[in-house]
Amino acid sequence: MPDVGGSGRSWATALRGVLLASTADPRAIQAGFTLLACVDAVLRYAGGVRPGFSPPTVAVFLVLVLFGATVLARGRLPVAAVGALLVADIGVVGLARLEPNGGAGLLAVVPALWLGRLHGRRGALVAAVATLALVTVPGLLYAGVEGMNLTRSVIIPVITTIAALAVAGGMEQVEHQRRVSEATLDTVDVGLVLLDEAGSYVAINRRHADFMTLAYPDGHAGRAGQPGLVYDADRVTPLPRESMPTYRAARGEEFDDCRIWVGDDPLTQRALSVSARSVRDEAGRFTGAALAYKDVTELMRAMEVKDEFVASVSHELRTPLTSIVGYVQMLREDDAVAPRAARQLEVVDRNANRLMRLITDLLDTAQIEAGPVGMSRSSGDLAALVRDCADAVRPSYRAAGIGLEVTAPDTLPALLDRPRIEQVVDNLLTNAMKYSATGSVVRVGLALADGRVELTVADQGIGISAADRDRLFTRFFRSREAEERSIQGVGLGLSITRGIVEAHGGRIEVDSELGIGSTFRVRLPVTG
Ligand code: ADP
Repeated sequence: MPDVGGSGRSWATALRGVLLASTADPRAIQAGFTLLACVDAVLRYAGGVRPGFSPPTVAVFLVLVLFGATVLARGRLPVAAVGALLVADIGVVGLARLEPNGGAGLLAVVPALWLGRLHGRRGALVAAVATLALVTVPGLLYAGVEGMNLTRSVIIPVITTIAALAVAGGMEQVEHQRRVSEATLDTVDVGLVLLDEAGSYVAINRRHADFMTLAYPDGHAGRAGQPGLVYDADRVTPLPRESMPTYRAARGEEFDDCRIWVGDDPLTQRALSVSARSVRDEAGRFTGAALAYKDVTELMRAMEVKDEFVASVSHELRTPLTSIVGYVQMLREDDAVAPRAARQLEVVDRNANRLMRLITDLLDTAQIEAGPVGMSRSSGDLAALVRDCADAVRPSYRAAGIGLEVTAPDTLPALLDRPRIEQVVDNLLTNAMKYSATGSVVRVGLALADGRVELTVADQGIGISAADRDRLFTRFFRSREAEERSIQGVGLGLSITRGIVEAHGGRIEVDSELGIGSTFRVRLPVTG
């Protein structure tokens, strides 16, 4: 892969040009022809021709010199120079043919094929003229009409021309197809990249050239995983090499919606959602990868505005609501309130508290979305915490006719943000109750395994389908079963739960079967 370093758009266009052009290594072209020419000479010497100073010997010498030149140039020759080299090869055939015993004039077909391949119809014309001028005419002049095999002399230029034209026609079709594909890929509004099995860029479309210019203003070497102005979803943390989409794709990883930002100027920075798929041969071997980069900047900006709006509205609502909840509480404790008004106050209290929970959830969600949740951890007893939470919800469980069993060691010291972990346990216990039927049992387990605590909350409730399980922890997600049964909720609890667990360096998982029940499993490091 050539170094395409440079500045601005030009290098990206150059990279595209280099990547899209299909070229062959002149060393390989010349090696094939040299081998054939040498075999021809050896066979002729074996057939009795003396290897003295004769046209075929000079021809072999010349062909070796030409091959040496391509090796010295390390294969880096302009296409026009490769054309000249191929004409010289035809000249070599002409020279070898001056030998009265004939010589393998048909060898001229080999450079003619390459001329057709590299230069199309023009190459075929050059091959025809070169064969006539360098093979047929000198042979006729040197040996005379009587000394030459006339049929062969006429047939050779005809065959070389037909062969070169056939290859040129095929190449024209291939080239046409390439242009059609290139134009198609350039019209889509998604950046596309094709990598080979070694992680080198094979092709990029125009849209991606724009993204590359933003990410690599100083140039790109055409290899997967090059660090540049590429940032994590937080827009500021530079993406390490092993997290770069191209690097991961080149290692055979497949993924969707990997969010990155490219560019460092906030005005022009773009958010990209990247997907990758592996390309494999019939035997299933990895032969490369295709990546698609979707520009999601506008969407991200709209989400930011929406999050800020929700957070500020929730914040504004909380202050008056706190005072409503407080005064209703005071009124409910006042014996002077008439029994009918007390019942109405209870409804107001219940709904005001529900509103308060919703607003708190919205604020927690906004905080989690804004970045890693700040935790203030201190050492505490997780076993006691779980038992306290269970005791707090026991009356509601009893009222719903659902059993609650807790299996936990006497104490389990851990470093944790107590109110936040209480929120996690509460959410899981409340959900287990909400989504279970009367008569079922919820089992809570707490144990230490491999230096991590494992908290499980297993219910015998409605369960979650496999399709819903992947989306369970996303904001506002509610399963169809939950909606159909009109079970109260807005779908924020689990996303907050996951945010808190992950901020503690832990993980949350769920096993579930529709109609059988669900088990939520939280693993937390004990020492933080
Ligand atoms: P909410 O319960 O307020 O809807 P959550 O974020 O806590 O929000 O849960 C999201 C969704 O996950 C719920 O709406 C429900 O569909 C599903 N879910 C959560 N816990 C359970 C459970 N224990 N059993 C069955 N479904 C559950």
